[in-house]
Amino acid sequence: MTTPNHRTWVEISLRRICANYHALRAATAPASQLAPVVKADAYRHGAATVSLRLQAEGAQWFAVSNTEEGMSLRVAGVTARILVMGDFLDYEREALLEASLTPVVHSLARLRDLNSYAAERNVTIAFHFKIDTGMGRLGARCGLDEILLAVQGASHLRLDGLMTHFASANDFTTSQTADQILAFEAAVHEFRQAGVTPPLLHLSSSGPVAYRLRRAYGTLVRPGLALYGYVSPPHGPADPVELDVQPALSWKARVVEIKEIPKGCPVGYGAQWRAARHTRMAVIAAGYADGIPHQLSNRGRVIAAGKLLPMLGAVSMDLITVDVTDAPQVQIGEAVTLLGQDGAVTYDAKDMAAEAGIIPYAVLCGLGNRVARLYVD
Ligand SMILES: *Cc1c(COP(=O)(O)O)cnc(C)c1O
Repeated sequence: MTTPNHRTWVEISLRRICANYHALRAATAPASQLAPVVKADAYRHGAATVSLRLQAEGAQWFAVSNTEEGMSLRVAGVTARILVMGDFLDYEREALLEASLTPVVHSLARLRDLNSYAAERNVTIAFHFKIDTGMGRLGARCGLDEILLAVQGASHLRLDGLMTHFASANDFTTSQTADQILAFEAAVHEFRQAGVTPPLLHLSSSGPVAYRLRRAYGTLVRPGLALYGYVSPPHGPADPVELDVQPALSWKARVVEIKEIPKGCPVGYGAQWRAARHTRMAVIAAGYADGIPHQLSNRGRVIAAGKLLPMLGAVSMDLITVDVTDAPQVQIGEAVTLLGQDGAVTYDAKDMAAEAGIIPYAVLCGLGNRVARLYVD
């Protein structure tokens, strides 16, 4: 590939994302379908491009957070079902309907409102209902009898799915996930007894699939992070991860300046670093506005010339500074690797997150608008 004329860019492999998708399919089929989670612009991998590609691979559902994200997928040509997971307000109902999005309803009040809205328009709206089985965020946390009555009374709504979400899917030191599964199974049982049998039952994001918690697969799983090649490390004793997924995104930025600084010279805002020796320093064209966590000040690394080299001083908005004393071949204009592989060295979003004391999700979602996005094979 010719080197692009950008100061900083990501290279995204759609082939990798497809391979990850098929690894997730293989792990969950035939009992469960997948709803690839493409919220937050597909964790910054580009929701429209990723979704169209996965739709061509056979994906029949996508999951997003909000109505606007769903609408832009429709505009891009996604015809698969789109689940809007992050709730909606009254002003969004029209767009939900027009774009044929499938909302998740999280409370009985919202359910009744949506039913009246559908009745006024003389349409039937398909929806999923979320029960809070212990996450304590979105989802209804009321008696199952009450939920059943409301669902059965909603003559203009069609319950296509019943779902919940885990709070501690990768934590093997607590019974929270097992408790949530039991609560969900009890709900499904009670619904069945009442003759309410939504075709889709779903509980799992990436974690339970990676750790093969089959009992939590239901008939639909909602993987996000694993689709982009990452599995969160477990807390406590877990079986080894049995899911072969690989990061699909690498991130580059160019060296804009190189200079020699004498011993004792301070570098960057707040003089947070001082040269302990005569130092050859590279100034790199990416900063926290591009998504390099500010927490990496004085502790992050980049790959150049096949080596991991330390960041010096504060991460600034548009630039970072890196010690290239031990990599004399690094020159102005060339690209260093912020995330990805160079020779034998790898530094991925998990490594960056660990060094910054944050989670890999935040590294991926933190990628700024200024970072050009290129698709590679
Ligand atoms: C974001 C999200 C997911 C995907 O989670 P990953 O850990 O990225 O797989 C699944 N379900 C819900 C409700 C979510 O909000």
